[in-house]
Amino acid sequence: MVKKQFKAESKRLLDLVINSIYTNKEIFLRELISNASDAIDKIYYKTLTDDSLTFNKDDYYIKIVPDKTNRVLKISDTGIGMTKEELDENLGIIANSGSFAFKNENELKDGHEIIGQFGVGFYSAFMVAETVTVISKAFGSDEAYKWESKGVDGYTIEPWEKDSFGTDIILKIKENTEEENYDEYLEEYRLKSIIKKYSDFIRYPIKMDITST
Ligand code: ADP
Ligand code: MG
Repeated sequence: MVKKQFKAESKRLLDLVINSIYTNKEIFLRELISNASDAIDKIYYKTLTDDSLTFNKDDYYIKIVPDKTNRVLKISDTGIGMTKEELDENLGIIANSGSFAFKNENELKDGHEIIGQFGVGFYSAFMVAETVTVISKAFGSDEAYKWESKGVDGYTIEPWEKDSFGTDIILKIKENTEEENYDEYLEEYRLKSIIKKYSDFIRYPIKMDITST
């Protein structure tokens, strides 16, 4: 499988995010939930303009599943999903991120400022995860794909299996270090408090499943 490289700007940002001593790592969850919500919005808008589609409220939700045993946190949505091309374009190039804009080189020097001001969207997952896996099936497509990356050294995309459309973001949570505790991002109460703090306004249900303790 060919490993693709991130575009230069994305690489610099990723590097910054991963190596940042930024303390507010918890915002990764806000970013991923907001992406999940956007993805459901996109289906909602489709149903407004296409008479052959109906929006059945119960079918649309965001699910958070912490698995302590395997150190995995999964964020799933039943949103619009991504095609192979969209995985490549949307997750490989930071310029696509609406929440992030470079003004000049100087801003890059202080990671705190950048992350605090703009949010880094999807890439913030790398603050807490050593591997980020995205399994997605686009609305209306029969094919699903898996995008995977350990950070700056690039990403891979390959065909995968997924029953229904939408996206699963699977985070392999980092091991604790002397300075940082990452275990907390697998704790139900901690995740719930982050959701309450940043994602209270999200219009779709955020469910939580515990797979193991
Ligand atoms: P932004 O949300 O500001 O556009 P992000 O870095 O958070 O930037 O996400 C980049 C892009 O990746 C999004 O614009 C969207 O196209 C795509 N994306 C990310 N997460 C999802 C998801 N859960 N479902 C569908 N598309 C997604
Ligand atoms: Mg976003």
